Amino acid sequence: MNVTEYQKWTRETALYPEANTGSVPELMYLSLGLAGEAAEIANKVKKLYRDGDSAEKRQAIQAEMGDVLWYLGRLAEVLDGDLAEILQANQDKLMSRKDRGVLSGSGDNR
Ligand SMILES: [Mg+2]
Repeated sequence: MNVTEYQKWTRETALYPEANTGSVPELMYLSLGLAGEAAEIANKVKKLYRDGDSAEKRQAIQAEMGDVLWYLGRLAEVLDGDLAEILQANQDKLMSRKDRGVLSGSGDNR
């Protein structure tokens, strides 16, 4: 499965208020969900640091990454975007910054 297919598939499991409407409340729901799943990754890494590392814990972090991707896929759908194009644009931006020697630093428009 490629990321575009995955993005379209997320529609089948979009079971929440105002799903697939593209409304601002839907964007809010998905953004909160994305932040929550990202926080789950951070919490698992925190516990890995505190309690010790293991292959199982690293696998659990990867599972949370899937949850993050689900929310990103939903957001791409709602915003009429394409995850594959979003990934490509991000890669192009970062490679441009690297080539111009401004990869480190700050500011969106480097
Ligand atoms: Mg999760």
